[in-house]
Amino acid sequence: MANLAALAAARTAKVAPHDFPRARIYASAETHHSIVKAAALLGLGRESVRLLPVDDRFKVRVDDLIASITADRARGDLPFCLVANAGTVATGAVDPIAELRDIAERFGLWLHVDASYGGFATLAPQARELFNGIAEADSVALDPHKWLYLPVDCGCVFYRDAESARAAFAHTAEYTRVLDLRDDEAFAFWDYGPELSRRFRALKVWMLLKGVGTRALGEAIESNLTSARHLEALVRESDDFEMLAPVELSIFCFRYRPKTSSEVELDELNERLLVALQRDGSSYLSNAKINGRFALRGCVLNYRTTLHDMEKLLNDLRRVALAL
Ligand SMILES: *Cc1c(COP(=O)(O)O)cnc(C)c1O
Repeated sequence: MANLAALAAARTAKVAPHDFPRARIYASAETHHSIVKAAALLGLGRESVRLLPVDDRFKVRVDDLIASITADRARGDLPFCLVANAGTVATGAVDPIAELRDIAERFGLWLHVDASYGGFATLAPQARELFNGIAEADSVALDPHKWLYLPVDCGCVFYRDAESARAAFAHTAEYTRVLDLRDDEAFAFWDYGPELSRRFRALKVWMLLKGVGTRALGEAIESNLTSARHLEALVRESDDFEMLAPVELSIFCFRYRPKTSSEVELDELNERLLVALQRDGSSYLSNAKINGRFALRGCVLNYRTTLHDMEKLLNDLRRVALAL
């Protein structure tokens, strides 16, 4: 919903209705499918999103991005929005946001940052500089139900200029007219997003910030980042596991690798291993496809996770693998 709302504001700000068929959005191939879905819902079509190649760290290739925008312009298309990832869903990659901001400025594009998972890592000193440039984005999507440790569902979108959201969503109707209230009470959320009646999702965010504070949250996130780095180090030291992607934030993608297996056997073995691990019940992982290979994927998103849990995870995998 945050990505949809932001792209709706971008469309209203940059594209006249008769230009919808020419409108183009740019994002890396690692981008979450909610961006393509939003483009479809907004009547721009799935094909309006150019999904660009990534480098060996799964970040968008800036030269391909510029080439794609330039070629589309030459063809008569209308580039209007650039989506930067601040923590991709598969590997946690953060695109070079400051470079993308400069490109957005150069080509007059709206810069949206999908920071749903990764954005809160700006609270952790060891990750902060990855997010340079995010403050100048036109919109940023964040999921407090991810790295603020809150229960689902709670998504959030920030706008550089709130009037751009009003332009996309506000309608005047007698039943939504705000009468004679002070400014804070008169703020009408329904003028800034698609929903009218809505749950009080902001309450849990407010209570967390008041009760726990951003310093403690930053420390918890810092510790999660350290846990993921620790797992990466353990895997690199081992001779029965290997990393399939670099660790950028708290996501790690790796696989079990007994010496004599082929690629196809490894895919099949790791898939069986994942199911067995989930059934075993001690540790929990999900999965990802990394360069076509089946990866075990973990994401440290709990303030109780410790370095010891990382060791336990690998030992659980070894124990379960033996039983296979
Ligand atoms: C989780 C995620 C989403 C979707 O958010 P939901 O809260 O699951 O709807 C979008 N983009 C990224 C990068 C995500 O990690």
